Amino acid sequence: MRVNEEKCIGCLECVAYCPVGAIKEVAGGNRVFINEEECVECGCCLRVGACEWEALWQPELKWPRVLRAQFSDPHVVHPSTGIYGRGTDEIKTNEVTGRYPRGCIGIAVELGRPGTGTGMLDIEKVARAILSLGVDFEKDNPTYNLFQDVSQGKLRDDVRGERVLSAILEFRTTVVKAPQILKELDRVARELGTVMSVNIASVLEPDGTLPAEKVAGEAGFQIRPNGKSNLGLGKPRHQDFSGGAR
Ligand code: SF4
Ligand code: SF4
Repeated sequence: MRVNEEKCIGCLECVAYCPVGAIKEVAGGNRVFINEEECVECGCCLRVGACEWEALWQPELKWPRVLRAQFSDPHVVHPSTGIYGRGTDEIKTNEVTGRYPRGCIGIAVELGRPGTGTGMLDIEKVARAILSLGVDFEKDNPTYNLFQDVSQGKLRDDVRGERVLSAILEFRTTVVKAPQILKELDRVARELGTVMSVNIASVLEPDGTLPAEKVAGEAGFQIRPNGKSNLGLGKPRHQDFSGGAR
């Protein structure tokens, strides 16, 4: 995002709309500028019509800068996935997709949200911390395509300097390995320059217990059960949800 210096009158109306505080007042206070390093190209300031003087404008974004918009602007489709948004809907529609069958734990690690943003190197740091512990990264998550070598947790050189509003590392592991992975996430979170939230998903056991709750307890976490249902409204593909038929 850019500010037209000739149109801006320094009213500061736009400042509050930037989730990462990238709009700054120049010394003297007669206009603002946008810190290009901090701006994640979410488009929020322009989309809400914050500037009645039409001083905000969006230049064409080229690679790799356009990556910021792909991860930060909910109106931009990820070319790698063909859908809006930063994650897949696997965790939310597991009753249909069956990506996380019994014995499996789904984990989504989100960096940068709310309102902080994350540098790509923090994503790499988290990936490197956990990949030796037995994780299976979700190939349909847009973050997956940013790795030059996912087995080493190494990002592509052209994206390493970018910054986005948030990004999600999505993977599955086993009930046995999950507590160690959560402990490692807790350790590496303290080395990051951003905030992290961790979502854990599992299928209810027939007796009504939730493996994700047990796993979190073993790792020393207290979970906050959270309901978010994206109804699959489709034919269950996994025997756990279809009574045996696939
Ligand atoms: S709202 Fe427009 S005129 Fe006011 S500070 Fe922002 S860019 Fe400048
Ligand atoms: S595009 Fe988003 S991050 Fe950039 S200045 Fe506008 S609100 Fe802030």
